[in-house]
Amino acid sequence: MAKYTPMIEQYLAIKAEVKDAFLFFRLGDFYEMFFEDAVLAARELEITLTGREGGMEERIPMCGVPYHSAENYIARLVEKGYKVAICEQVENPAEAKGVVRREIVRIVTPGTVMDARSLSETSNNYIAAVQSDAAGFALAACDISTGELYVTRLTGSFERLMDELNVYNPSELLGAAEVLERIQSGAGAMLRTAVMTVRSEESLAAAGLQPITAYFSDKQLAALPDGGREALSVLMGYLQETQKRSLSHIKHIRIYEPNQYMVMDPFTRRNLELVETVRDRTKKGSLLWLLDKTVTAMGGRLLKRWIEKPLMNASLIEERLEAVDRLYNQLMLRDDLRQSLKEVYDLERLTARIAYGSANARDLVALRASLEQVPRLRELCEGSGSATLKALAEGIDPCQDLMSWIADTIQDEPPVSVRDGGMIRAGVNARLDQLREASTNGKQWLAELERLERERTGIKSLKIGFNKVFGYFIEVTKSNLSMLEEGRYERKQTLANAERFVTPELKEKEALILEAQEGMIDLEYALFTELRDRLVGQLSRLQQLAERIATIDVYQSIAHVSAAQRYTRPTIGEFYGLEIEEGRHPVVEAVLEDGVFIANDTALTRESGSMLLITGPNMAGKSTYMRQVAMIGLMAQIGCFVPAKRAVVPIVDRIFTRIGAADDLIGGQSTFMVEMMDIQIMTEKATSRSLVIIDELGRGTSTGEGMAIAQAVIEFLHDNIGCKTLVSTHFHELAHLEESLRDLRNYCMAVKESGQNVTFLRKLIRGAADTSYGIYCAQIAGLPNSIIERSYELLNAFETRAELAQGHAESTAGKEAAATAVSRKPQAELVREAVESSPEASAPTALAPAAPEAA
Ligand code: ADP
Repeated sequence: MAKYTPMIEQYLAIKAEVKDAFLFFRLGDFYEMFFEDAVLAARELEITLTGREGGMEERIPMCGVPYHSAENYIARLVEKGYKVAICEQVENPAEAKGVVRREIVRIVTPGTVMDARSLSETSNNYIAAVQSDAAGFALAACDISTGELYVTRLTGSFERLMDELNVYNPSELLGAAEVLERIQSGAGAMLRTAVMTVRSEESLAAAGLQPITAYFSDKQLAALPDGGREALSVLMGYLQETQKRSLSHIKHIRIYEPNQYMVMDPFTRRNLELVETVRDRTKKGSLLWLLDKTVTAMGGRLLKRWIEKPLMNASLIEERLEAVDRLYNQLMLRDDLRQSLKEVYDLERLTARIAYGSANARDLVALRASLEQVPRLRELCEGSGSATLKALAEGIDPCQDLMSWIADTIQDEPPVSVRDGGMIRAGVNARLDQLREASTNGKQWLAELERLERERTGIKSLKIGFNKVFGYFIEVTKSNLSMLEEGRYERKQTLANAERFVTPELKEKEALILEAQEGMIDLEYALFTELRDRLVGQLSRLQQLAERIATIDVYQSIAHVSAAQRYTRPTIGEFYGLEIEEGRHPVVEAVLEDGVFIANDTALTRESGSMLLITGPNMAGKSTYMRQVAMIGLMAQIGCFVPAKRAVVPIVDRIFTRIGAADDLIGGQSTFMVEMMDIQIMTEKATSRSLVIIDELGRGTSTGEGMAIAQAVIEFLHDNIGCKTLVSTHFHELAHLEESLRDLRNYCMAVKESGQNVTFLRKLIRGAADTSYGIYCAQIAGLPNSIIERSYELLNAFETRAELAQGHAESTAGKEAAATAVSRKPQAELVREAVESSPEASAPTALAPAAPEAA
């Protein structure tokens, strides 16, 4: 019976260990793939599929990539969400008996890439493990490219887990099958997660992995929350299994209580466009984009984390505000900080590469250059006049000893490769200096030999060269061969028009020169790794330093933007009322191309009413206004100044937003259903400390039903929760609620009608809009006049019918119709007031109907 060849048998045995990964099987200068792997890889990488005899009748599908360009192919597969297991020859083929021994040396997965090509400089790349039990979930999330590790526990519902997972947006998730399935079928669709791998703590012991106690101290482990140890075990087990090397940079466990941070569900994060826009999911146009004037990569990543995790603790927020405040007015200081920070490399990722053993000499030079800046940064912070920055600076360990180690050992401009020498300075090691001298002398001797041989033979074109196979040789062109002395030269190689020779003397010297060179390279490598290993022992110092420098960078960034955009310091604390004077939407304001942003006030207090019902036509500025309130609250809790003349902002435990449009991304569910599910979560989770924003409540179903649901939801939030609430609706009929709900106030976006034109004044005024201008919009859009006229006709008919019905109802409950009439009437007057009182409104956006079609 036919059998596979021994090598294919070996391949199959190794492949069985990594069924869910491509196996890159090293064969000489190539990584080869076989069987289904080959077929799929050929398609994904667009490389040629070939075949190979494998002992059986049919050829085995095969494709391969050259090892020197493999990184590129690996990166492409990982980006597509695959795992790649790299299998190397682990013995010298020349010494092997039978098939060369091979082993998997690393499995690259989306959550564990270290290659700079696949990592975004400006965001973390997390891998997370989830552990569930009856009372909740534990979550452990790690970025192995920086060494950050977070553990937390989420009690209660599954949604809470999803909220938190969304903060990390991990590219890879580990956990038991049930949990992963639930995540995948729920709002997990909004995560970027490429791979979900089933792992449980039980499966770890079987795999013979090191227990978690090998990484962390008993004290660290004792501090973990319920389930945290299991989640962390699964995570560390998987990292071991895939990385197969030291994880010494993952040292510090950041354990936190979820209520240290403001909670936002995935939709709210998206809707408020914190780190990316809803439309094209790019950073440009997001709050992060606006605030990011960081200079270092790690500062950029930290700012992103700050935005994604607004604080809940007033004194921590004040600490941040204090630093921003001091920097706000000191342009020179900010410039000096920026200058200094520009010289600082990505210390977090540098340290991780050092721990991984993948840092080269250039990385160490970058580390040295970064450390050179530390005394200056410290000095600037100490002299800043900010207590926060001073404390930060005092905690800085400048690591100048590490800087000297590198400065004393490594050349200023070493090569990329660590295997070619040229890294270590003269004077570091006596033996290395000797070898270098021997090699230099050898080369001089060769030059001298060349000169002597030319003289002796009279051949001017005679030269001494070197190649890897034959070593040093004397080369003479064919036409000059007769000039050589008989018996003195030993023939080595014949070329088309030259012959190459050696002499005993040259052979002898060659041995010395090559020995010196080889010794030099080996010794340099040894000295280099010795230094790198010494640095590994100091990683936690470097990591702490990196974090502090990143923090300084974030402070200068938000102070810079706060000053440039004329933001003010908010008053923040544990009180109920929110008051904003002349608030602006930070991003809309920044991207407004023509015209000025019209500022608006906000009062959501117990006295002035904590619920605003906002009516007004499309495009009037309702949703911008509501988001602006959320943004200002959120920025304050990050510790940033806010776009307003004055802002008093209470600490909010949660922001909920329900904003129409672009939410139909969860396939298969109607917009209305999504809206209702959001509202359900809101009714369950909101507290009196929450901020709720609902845009266009009750769209997506029939008018009657929509209005009924909208009213019921408003009543529920008002009566049962008492949260600060902003609701916009096109049901201007709901205005009557002001009569029955104590804390509700009607507001609308002022518009000015003059003849055929409607002008949006973008000014929030008391009272309800009296019409939603839907037909007017249709007219502007250029619909045929006949349709417009017919629409007005029908509207009138509907309204008359509604009035009749209402007249009928009035006999039983007349209050509501009267209320509507009351709140409709003052609109015209209020607009007049708004126009007169707002000087900016001199250049409001005007919409003119499209010219009517020629009759
Ligand atoms: P609505 O929610 O009422 O349909 P939007 O809030 O979407 O309206 O606003 C429509 C557009 O008007 C926005 O894209 C923005 O460019 C502009 N806008 C909104 N508010 C203001 C403002 N206060 N000042 C200037 N322009 C504004």
